[in-house]
Amino acid sequence: MEIVLDVLLFVAAVLLIMGLRQLSNPDTASKGNSLAAFALFLGIVVSLVYPLETASNNYLYISVGIAVGAAIGLLSAKKVAMTAMPEMVSLFNGFGGLSAGLISLVWLINNKAAGQATEMGIVLLNLFLGLVAFIGSLVAYGKLSGKLKDGHLRIPFSTLVNLVLLLAAIAAIVVFSYNGMLTHVQLTVFAVVALLYGITFVAPIGGADMPVVISLLNSLTGITAAISGILTDNKLMLLGGVLVGSSGIILTLLMCKAMNRPLLSVIFGSFSSSKGEGLEVNGNIKEISCADLAIQLAYSDRVCIIPGYGMAVAQAQKVVKEVEVILEERGVEFKYAIHPVAGRMPGHMNVLLAEADVSYDKLLDLDDANSYLETTDVAIVVGANDVVNPSALEDPNSKIYGMPILDLAKTKNVVVLKRSMNPGYAGIQNPLFFKDNNKMLFGDAKKTLQLILSELKAA
Ligand code: NDP
Repeated sequence: MEIVLDVLLFVAAVLLIMGLRQLSNPDTASKGNSLAAFALFLGIVVSLVYPLETASNNYLYISVGIAVGAAIGLLSAKKVAMTAMPEMVSLFNGFGGLSAGLISLVWLINNKAAGQATEMGIVLLNLFLGLVAFIGSLVAYGKLSGKLKDGHLRIPFSTLVNLVLLLAAIAAIVVFSYNGMLTHVQLTVFAVVALLYGITFVAPIGGADMPVVISLLNSLTGITAAISGILTDNKLMLLGGVLVGSSGIILTLLMCKAMNRPLLSVIFGSFSSSKGEGLEVNGNIKEISCADLAIQLAYSDRVCIIPGYGMAVAQAQKVVKEVEVILEERGVEFKYAIHPVAGRMPGHMNVLLAEADVSYDKLLDLDDANSYLETTDVAIVVGANDVVNPSALEDPNSKIYGMPILDLAKTKNVVVLKRSMNPGYAGIQNPLFFKDNNKMLFGDAKKTLQLILSELKAA
């Protein structure tokens, strides 16, 4: 029986990897998702049967847990608006961390006198990481959903507090590992320190720097799931955790590069909040009508779309694709400039454009896009703001100073589609709107693009 279960677990692991592999291509992503979900289902079934006689008493509790969890997951996944996906992913990530933390907690309660220093150290580390990932993801959820503003949860001397809490947690892990056991009071204090560290770690990071911390929290959950896999001798959990943890680390490094932020300053919670408010931006803006923009597009050689979070809100990606098709039929070269942190989750724009059947070879990454934008006739900014904000290059007092942006300074004509003069996620004004080469086209991006499309069809 044990051999059969081991083989099934191995099959589940292979299917999971195949499913994840398929997720990397938009054409196979949906199939990959189902395959990975099936692999995890198989893993759960095998894990339930695996301990054979020991778990049989708990099947009732486990079934109730699975039923309640599945019902909540199903309902929330069905109900969630597409634009709320990033915060939902953050919430789910947090619960992954909490589950891993709870596995350690149960281990600590059941193995009080285990005595093994390394084992104890790993369990405490896992509890710490799990709780940090949990509370950090809750704070990230609050920030992404707009329930928590940057000013809320302001902690005095946050970098120092953060460092002290981290050192306290490391010291506790070392001391308790050698002691071999913790009293309930010590365990509670340790958990509180972990939770406080999670809050002081994420709370000061605001505005445009959130993507780095979100990917770091993802990798923490992966690492803690991997450790839980070792603790429970579950190879599929170990494998899943290793994959999430390592890909999360790669993503974190990519995000640090995209934001031009050092990783260590993320870990010690010392960036972003310290910057000033930036310069006041004044001047006149120019507006353009849909009809005039349509004419300008029809007579252009090169057009580039810069999508941002507003495209996701407006769900304008399919109309953008229709504009691409009609302009290409007229011989216009059409590209998309993708900033790595555009939207509210890594790869957000890629997913939306793939959904609209935009070919991957039309997407330019930051460096290629910036060269292309120098020779572009018309760049249309569809609901992007922070990722095209020149303050990142020009204003050392700005919160986003140093972040690489899509630079529109040399583009012949720029048109920004948005509903108002409101700032983007970082909450700062955008001097681009007042530049000579820029015009504003106010309104919901989907509606204005539909009007542009009708004008192009009529011409
Ligand atoms: P921004 O949040 O900077 O700006 C989005 C703009 O879209 C707003 O200015 C808004 O203006 C406009 N908008 C909203 N709805 C519509 C609509 N229906 N039609 C037209 N426009 C609309 O987005 P960016 O993509 O430029 O930047 C992403 C930001 O989010 C960065 O600061 C990034 O760091 C941060 N972030 C990114 C994460 C990631 O992983 N990618 C995660 C967490 C944060 P108006 O209201 O006037 O319409």
